[in-house]
Amino acid sequence: MDAFGNRPPTLSHLSVRHFDISTRGKLMRFLLKLMAFCAALVPVLWGQAKPETAKKPADVRFTLDMLDKNADPCTDFYTYACGKWKAANPIPSDRPSWGRFNELQEHGEYIVRDILEKAAVDKPGRTATEQKIGDYYATCMDESAIEKAGAKPMQHDFQSIAALKSKDELPKEIFRLHREGVDVLFGFGSGSDFKNASQIIAEVDQGGLGMPDRDYYFKDDAKSVELRQKYVEHVQKMFELLGDAPAKAAAEAKIVMEIETGLAMGALDQTSRRDPQKIYHKLSNRELAAFSPAFNWNVYFEGVGAPKFDSLNVIEPDFFKQMETVINSFSLDDWKTYLRWHVVHANAPVLPAAFVTENFNFFAKTMQGTKELRPRWKRCVGFAGDDLGEAIGQIYVKETFGEEGKARMLTMVNALEKALGEDIQSLPWMGEDTKKQALVKLAAVTNRIGYPDKWRDYSSLQIVRGDALGNSQRANQYDLQRRLNKIGKPLDKRDWPYPPMTVNASYNPNQNNITFPAGILQPPFFDKQADDAMNYGAIGAAIGHELTHGFDDEGSQFDADGNLRDWWTADDKKKFEERTSCIKDQYGSFVAVDDLKLNGKLTLGENTADNGGLRIAYMALLSTLAGKEPAPTDGLTARQRFFLGWANAWCQNRTDPFQRMLVTIDPHSPAKYRVNGTVSNMPEFREAYQCKADAPMVNQNACRVW
Ligand SMILES: [Zn+2]
Repeated sequence: MDAFGNRPPTLSHLSVRHFDISTRGKLMRFLLKLMAFCAALVPVLWGQAKPETAKKPADVRFTLDMLDKNADPCTDFYTYACGKWKAANPIPSDRPSWGRFNELQEHGEYIVRDILEKAAVDKPGRTATEQKIGDYYATCMDESAIEKAGAKPMQHDFQSIAALKSKDELPKEIFRLHREGVDVLFGFGSGSDFKNASQIIAEVDQGGLGMPDRDYYFKDDAKSVELRQKYVEHVQKMFELLGDAPAKAAAEAKIVMEIETGLAMGALDQTSRRDPQKIYHKLSNRELAAFSPAFNWNVYFEGVGAPKFDSLNVIEPDFFKQMETVINSFSLDDWKTYLRWHVVHANAPVLPAAFVTENFNFFAKTMQGTKELRPRWKRCVGFAGDDLGEAIGQIYVKETFGEEGKARMLTMVNALEKALGEDIQSLPWMGEDTKKQALVKLAAVTNRIGYPDKWRDYSSLQIVRGDALGNSQRANQYDLQRRLNKIGKPLDKRDWPYPPMTVNASYNPNQNNITFPAGILQPPFFDKQADDAMNYGAIGAAIGHELTHGFDDEGSQFDADGNLRDWWTADDKKKFEERTSCIKDQYGSFVAVDDLKLNGKLTLGENTADNGGLRIAYMALLSTLAGKEPAPTDGLTARQRFFLGWANAWCQNRTDPFQRMLVTIDPHSPAKYRVNGTVSNMPEFREAYQCKADAPMVNQNACRVW
């Protein structure tokens, strides 16, 4: 289950760096570390069925009519490349944004729906996998049964909370809720030991907030103040839906806001969370206990289902000191109110329409500018993918992913790795010692293409037809247990962070590997029928992007084995930082929405990866062309088409509220700057489009790291 912290916070700290943030809620977890954030970004909410209006996208291949020929590529390349596409593809009313990624994602949703509908037919001889995915989907689609059950499926949670006799019993209730997927108080899970990456250790993280990020609780601009007020109103309405009188519900909402603000005070902001030094504190269980003596950690660790351990990564020690203050500052009754809120908040997507609509109204409509709920089947496809991703994925890859695609992809990955190697060797600013280390790291990168070699085993997860909330809670429990079982064991690199139909890609600094699932290996990113120039500009630059993450401001702090270890000479590190600060300043000057500028530091890693990725993809293309200039296609040279391939992949429309929200929490720049920022740093672009020296797409102080 995806939406609204509906899984316990088991995130790995910095870990996976993704190519794009806007695809699925699940991915957000890996990026942002905190469960509670996810769903606010991705409008996957349940509710009343809407007549189906969406059409199956016919073909998402690049075509010339996406270009705005009236725009000058040297003035605004993004508008030139995407202008017509943008005009022809307004944001659908059930989305906060719409782009090429979404077209591809939607295409995949239809394929997955077919798989699920077939499996949902209850006939003898269904495989265990078909029973699980089919019954899950059929149950999700059965709105009338969900309406009939009302709030009843949550009764066991409310009774358990009401029965608490003292705050000493909080750990017992917290682990019970974490196992069901309710994000309360803090997060717990497992991850690589930063300094011994082949070993998995336990980790505790900040958590327990209803809004997407700690900054939402403190920013004092008019829009943020208004949003907080609307959040409190939303919490009140949810209590009213549970049957509380308005005055009581209002008082309860106030308490929730106070407790969450207290917790948020101890939480790190997103920019700090990109700094591995700030999120790695390997401490003994006893040291953690000393931060928050009011909370019995032994009771929690045992009850939540973790194997025995005596040290763990306490991601933000300050958070757990603050947690002590917050626990002591509120009464048992206040805590009961807070827990009750999070139960309804986490489960809202699997509740009757009144809850779904109220949930949607705040998190999707107010916060992101989305006009209406997605059709029910799309939400159910999304939830099934989150809860049973690899069970569906096994069937999906059989139907969609050919060996031929995998082979061509591997050829490109090899070409990109070779180009990055040559790039490193030719860097004018880096000394020989550091170069040698960088090449060792590059040679150690491993590639995962298409789908995992070892599929997740869902046999212990029980899916019951007719029990929507139970299915969701059991899936959360299964997933938490799966993560906790890794504690104390060696890292298993065969384990993928997301299912193969995902439209995204990632680099993991603790594993020094890149992952390209089958979902992204399709047009417009990878088109078997397109020429090399377009493919190198699109999927080639995406591969380059992921490889460069191993060498961005964050990834560069990890070595070939994924350990947090400084392999740089002091002098080279200084030069590296001078160069990354050029990118930080460049992107920090871009305006995201109204007068709100990008956070150059938060987006530094992604921007570095975009710039490095596009450059090495260009080098790889030239080496593939081997000095031969292909005849222009559609009147465009191979070099021009390369840059178009890049820009086209980023064609996108976004609502202003959504853009505003992402500036705070998204480490990626908006699409326009992913395109214009990168090309303006490349003299090769200027040459390809014959731009004048003073054209806007020619950055006078071109930034270059890799
Ligand atoms: Zn990235």
